[in-house]
Amino acid sequence: RDPDVQPGHRYRLGVMGGTFDPIHHGHLVAASEVASRFGLDEVVFVPTGQPWQKSHKKVSSAEDRYLMTVIATASNPRFSVSRVDIDRGGPTYTVDTLRDLHAERGDDIDLYFITGADALAQILTWRDVEEMFRLAHFVGCTRPGVELHSPVIEGVPPERITLLEVPALAISSTGCRERVTARQPIWYLVPDGIVQYIAKRGLYLS
Ligand code: ATP
Ligand code: MG
Repeated sequence: RDPDVQPGHRYRLGVMGGTFDPIHHGHLVAASEVASRFGLDEVVFVPTGQPWQKSHKKVSSAEDRYLMTVIATASNPRFSVSRVDIDRGGPTYTVDTLRDLHAERGDDIDLYFITGADALAQILTWRDVEEMFRLAHFVGCTRPGVELHSPVIEGVPPERITLLEVPALAISSTGCRERVTARQPIWYLVPDGIVQYIAKRGLYLS
């Protein structure tokens, strides 16, 4: 915590959940933009455990995804990484992420869950939606190729969701993996350290 904060200031923690296989500049720009627009004190990146929406697909190990997230965020003093979803084990549900972060950081903080337009459109299928919206404010970010609109959710006040236009980066983890498999460059789509980590570990080669 920042010791210089004003009395009465509630700590604002952004939460960026994702598979991060690999983390790319689209994730980092969205987090940075939300942090600036909402005056967030910190954004914590939370790599998923075994992602339940993607359980039919091949996903890199939690440790590789965790380390890439650490490498990509290390230079930003307001970015951090949490292992709560990885260490819990089993499929990740956002409601558990938010509960665990409140348990770790205390109840006197405000959580802002950051999601891209594609993930926001799926939100009605997530577990314990009403409790999720009690635990956090949701920020839906624009993402190239996806229309952004606020889902109407019974029992959830519309002011718990804010839509935000962020600088458009047509980058996806899927696209990055496919480029590596096709031996095409991913320089400048992901941070330099991530290009090097992927090469060192031989990720996505087949
Ligand atoms: P994949 O192609 O494997 O699904 P992804 O690029 O969608 O990967 P995720 O880890 O699934 O990355 O995304 C984590 C979060 O970041 C989601 O809320 C997603 O909508 C958001 N996000 C991902 N890429 C962008 C982008 N280019 N611009 C804005 N938001 C993004
Ligand atoms: Mg995705």
